[in-house]
Amino acid sequence: MKAPFIAPGQTLGILGGGQLGKMIAIEARRMGYRVKVLDPDTACPASEVAEVVQGAWSDPTAALELAIGCDVVTLETEHVPYAVLAEVEHLRPLRPSAQVLKTIQDRYNQRHFLHRHDLPQTRWANVESLGALDTALAQIGAPAILKRRTGGYDGRAQVRIFALDQAEAAWDALGRSPCILEAFVDFAAELSVVLARSAQGEIRFFATAENVHQNGILHTTVAPARFAPPIRAAAEDLATRAAVALEIVGVLTVEFFLTRDGRLLINEMAPRVHNSGHVTLGACVTSQFEQQLRAVCGLPLGSQHQHAPAAMVNLLGELWSGGEPDFRAVLAEPRAHLHLYGKRVAHPGRKMGHITVLADDTDEALAVAERLHAQLASR
Ligand code: AMP
Repeated sequence: MKAPFIAPGQTLGILGGGQLGKMIAIEARRMGYRVKVLDPDTACPASEVAEVVQGAWSDPTAALELAIGCDVVTLETEHVPYAVLAEVEHLRPLRPSAQVLKTIQDRYNQRHFLHRHDLPQTRWANVESLGALDTALAQIGAPAILKRRTGGYDGRAQVRIFALDQAEAAWDALGRSPCILEAFVDFAAELSVVLARSAQGEIRFFATAENVHQNGILHTTVAPARFAPPIRAAAEDLATRAAVALEIVGVLTVEFFLTRDGRLLINEMAPRVHNSGHVTLGACVTSQFEQQLRAVCGLPLGSQHQHAPAAMVNLLGELWSGGEPDFRAVLAEPRAHLHLYGKRVAHPGRKMGHITVLADDTDEALAVAERLHAQLASR
């Protein structure tokens, strides 16, 4: 099928108006597109730059209202139900496709996909009852992590199990809903590859990033990752294989654990722009957000060339506990860029913004980002 070409001046629809949707919308507006987003909150971050169709992601009527007013539809979240995506796809080009989302949004489907395509991952088992959890724990051993199959993000909807007798409490904590149990990986590092695949099958990836999470939430990213080229090349190769097998059109993020004996295991995939790709905005010729727009609209992909080593640190809601943080030190640092998403309410763990830093080397970029974060936290 010939890929439709959506030219500047036409309208992009985004399912979700959070910070990811906002940053896609900013790039789209810069390039002359009109943008509409579907979000339950009319004051969502993207509302500053896009028209909002108000509605829950699970509301097919609202999703169709969005689709009908757009020329092409994309998304910033993998949590839109498949049935809604299928209806949208019936009406307008949807990129990535409903089928890709079906594979990724349920952890069981995603794990099964990785297995079918011989892509390395952590040991796991499907868990649909307490009895099945006991059996899985006996096989996989503790520590392990129980994750709800759908709806989890930023370390939510998952519970660590340190001993076999904690099974029932974990099962209850996740609402006795279908889960997968994963072996706990004592990793040396976490890496991610953010790539874009066009409708013609062209793939371009950004430099492999090195990520540190705190409490299951991304804290810092450094790109390029400070590992030998063969490790980065292996991560790119695995991510490419996943993108080709998924036939995804748009940005795909593949997150990895690097084990202490040097193996790469896929932790999870996201069919969208990603927090670990935020450094690309400012550090690369084409950001992940513009690349998403280009892939979705059938434009040629842009250059992913990175101008300088870069680091990012997330700004979470706890920094707002004493009111609006004092950003003067961040603004005074010439190598730093401040990004605030415009969320009205801050609560602990909520992503409110981030800082990116470009420097002569990655260690320096990270040190500056960490210092600026520490200064914000100490006030
Ligand atoms: P997830 O949302 O599943 O990517 O989990 C968030 C973070 O929790 C990951 O980036 C890791 O830091 C940690 N984590 C998740 N699964 C595992 C695992 N099987 N072993 C060790 N750490 C994990």
